[in-house]
Amino acid sequence: MIDKLRKEHKLTAEEYKILLECQDSNCLSYLQKQAQEEALSRFGNRVFIRGLIEVTNRCRNNCYYCGIRKGNPSVSRYGLTRETILACCREGYEAGFRTFVMQGGEDPAMTDEWTEQTVASIHRLFPDCAITLSLGEKTRETYERFFHAGANRYLLRHETYNKEHYRLLHPDRMSPEYRLQCLQWLKEIGYQTGTGIMVGTPGQTIGHLVEDLLFIERFQPEMIGIGPFIPHHATPFKNYPAGTLEQTLTLLSVLRLMFPKVLLPATTALGTIVPNGRELGILAGANVVMPNLSPADVRQNYLLYDNKLCSGAEAAEAKNDLAARLHSIGYEIAEGRGDYKES
Ligand code: SAM
Repeated sequence: MIDKLRKEHKLTAEEYKILLECQDSNCLSYLQKQAQEEALSRFGNRVFIRGLIEVTNRCRNNCYYCGIRKGNPSVSRYGLTRETILACCREGYEAGFRTFVMQGGEDPAMTDEWTEQTVASIHRLFPDCAITLSLGEKTRETYERFFHAGANRYLLRHETYNKEHYRLLHPDRMSPEYRLQCLQWLKEIGYQTGTGIMVGTPGQTIGHLVEDLLFIERFQPEMIGIGPFIPHHATPFKNYPAGTLEQTLTLLSVLRLMFPKVLLPATTALGTIVPNGRELGILAGANVVMPNLSPADVRQNYLLYDNKLCSGAEAAEAKNDLAARLHSIGYEIAEGRGDYKES
């Protein structure tokens, strides 16, 4: 099945299920090896870097898993000024970053006009850089405005394709249909679009994961963000266990074999559940890392989950640490924007 997946980039639902249920360590290391080889053959031993700027931790939503949910009164809320965001970009640019990711909660105070002008400023000051947004659900018109201001990519994980499971993770006012609609618009507008899931969220079954894979197969994203769910102590899911390293690696490898060209990060969450998680992610087929470029004094306020890493190789200012870690597994940092390439 693994050979078939590598050759045809597609399995049946039943086959995906068997693969995701597999516990055999030989089989799983063979899967990871195939995925690593696939990534190496396309990208060489180079890993793309993105500078992540966490622009606001205010959010109108109340997702049950998320530490910056509206209903968490213990968060000290902030929103970065445009000047601060541009200063982060400048620092990142000097360190060699050529993609900036503006991520944040759905902050009612962050108007479309403000975001549009911020994107336009980054675009004007750093014309050779890609701008990725991860600002949640908006209207089609808003996505168009941001795109025309210079944003190139948008990350919006669908979180789970299964409707009942979605309802378990989100309050009623949030709609899985609208989230999928947003993804469709983003693609139509011309963004390099990223979707994805958390691995091991409460109530998640192998059947749900198969539904996710089949959705991602239909959607054909340019980027896929997957990382383990990690509980946050001030959320309704505080007592649930985190997703596992093994299942996350298996999914990364399956996704790499399904989508040889896709931009696939080894996420901060993966690096949080085990100290060398990001390196293991790369060895399982990932080819992107997203170090944190946010100002040091706000990082502790963007805690989506407990113990979230924001220093060491995780921090953009410590790019040398990251380079050394990558070097230790035979990889290096790729130069340039690292756009999705069709061929
Ligand atoms: N608000 C935007 C959105 O909805 O896409 C972007 C910010 S949101 C905090 C970014 C991602 O963080 C979510 O898509 C979710 O998958 C992830 N996340 C939130 N809470 C998490 C947790 N407890 N463990 C792991 N990942 C989490």
